[in-house]
Amino acid sequence: MTEVLPAAEAANGAWPSVSELAAGADAFAVSMQPVVAAEPQLRHQGMPSDGDSPAVHRAMGEGGWIGIHWPCELGGRGLSYAHTLACEERFGYRWLPLSGYLLSVKTIGNALRRFASAELQERLLPEIAAGRILFCQGFSEPEAGSDLAGLRTRARLVGDRFVVDGRKLWTSSAEYADWVYLAVRTDPQRPRHRGISVLVADIRTPGITVSSHATLGGGTLGELALEEVEIPAGQLVGELHGGWRVLMGTLDHERVTSEKVGTVLWLLDALEPHATGSEHRRVLRRLRGAALAARLHGRRAAALLDAGRPASAQSSMAKLAVAELMQRVAAFAGAVLGPESLLEEGIGTLRGRLAAFQRAAAAATISGGAAEIQRAVIARRELGMGRA
Ligand SMILES: Cc1cc2nc3c(=O)[nH]c(=O)nc-3n(C[C@H](O)[C@H](O)[C@H](O)COP(=O)(O)OP(=O)(O)OC[C@H]3O[C@@H](n4cnc5c(N)ncnc54)[C@H](O)[C@@H]3O)c2cc1C
Repeated sequence: MTEVLPAAEAANGAWPSVSELAAGADAFAVSMQPVVAAEPQLRHQGMPSDGDSPAVHRAMGEGGWIGIHWPCELGGRGLSYAHTLACEERFGYRWLPLSGYLLSVKTIGNALRRFASAELQERLLPEIAAGRILFCQGFSEPEAGSDLAGLRTRARLVGDRFVVDGRKLWTSSAEYADWVYLAVRTDPQRPRHRGISVLVADIRTPGITVSSHATLGGGTLGELALEEVEIPAGQLVGELHGGWRVLMGTLDHERVTSEKVGTVLWLLDALEPHATGSEHRRVLRRLRGAALAARLHGRRAAALLDAGRPASAQSSMAKLAVAELMQRVAAFAGAVLGPESLLEEGIGTLRGRLAAFQRAAAAATISGGAAEIQRAVIARRELGMGRA
């Protein structure tokens, strides 16, 4: 493993440049390859951002690779969002399994910094940064995916606790998670968007049962049954009944997809020696251009989020750009290598990795919000068009 870089570089004015830190992240990710190769659950995982390895996650925390732009007093390194994005891109390039990281840090950790009480931040963020707490995200339900405001999981405030009943589906990393970030309905009498709240809970709280389902992508997705789950009122994130704003802000963070740009660049580098004809080389150049454009979308969204400005349209553009690109790259792999690219050898070989990636890429335009929903957000927020 690489050396732990000193925390609080910012405090003494010795910030590493973005490229220096990214080189350190790259070396760390390379050092993790034997650990990744030894994880049986990753053998057929075609989308690194959907995979998990508790050992890698702990090493990321111990190495100072979590919370790079979070304040030092909350366990971070006090660097910039640009440093974080560059490191995440290197982690994606080296196929580190990042599902729990993306949920706990990029999505929920950043959202907690924006919406949670100071007390909750002080309790949770240093533990997340140390790699000791992994979060999963319980938003989707059987009747609430694209139409998230249709969620039915009910939370009643009884004294100083919420009592929660319901069911969550497609919960990535649930089987590895220590905590869950839950979207719940706290007032069914109010208009749909105004009766929702966000809670956080230890996943071992009595009444929470986790099960998992195998996916085409080569991993699993979780399901949570919640029965009379008691959650302290102090674990409310944001305002009571004001959860819609929190949910939308959380999704903005989730949709900044720097790590997937790294994965696409790795695939294009790996395919380059095989793309010999002029047509394949032309397509490869176009795909590289699209990857660089997706990177710029992500950087723009991150800069807005970092400045506390609205970023929904930009985050959706980043998410949509990279999701569609992944499917184009998967199709390109099939065109370049032909049937060989479908051989299921496990991700230890290029062919096996491409086969797994082609399976997993199908979900890229569904997870984190379907492509049609991203287009609707862009139409409304960026182009000023009416509701889709
Ligand atoms: C790999 C993966 C990981 C996931 N991880 C998580 C997680 O960790 N936590 C979590 O809460 N959820 C997670 N999800 C769930 C994901 O957020 C939902 O699958 C997604 O929001 C779509 O919802 P749905 O599956 O209910 O499909 P539906 O909402 O039923 O949509 C079905 C189809 O209808 C289209 N559609 C729906 N509404 C509209 C509309 N208004 N306009 C145009 N077209 C529309 C959609 O585009 C889609 O093609 C994950 C999903 C996947 C695939």
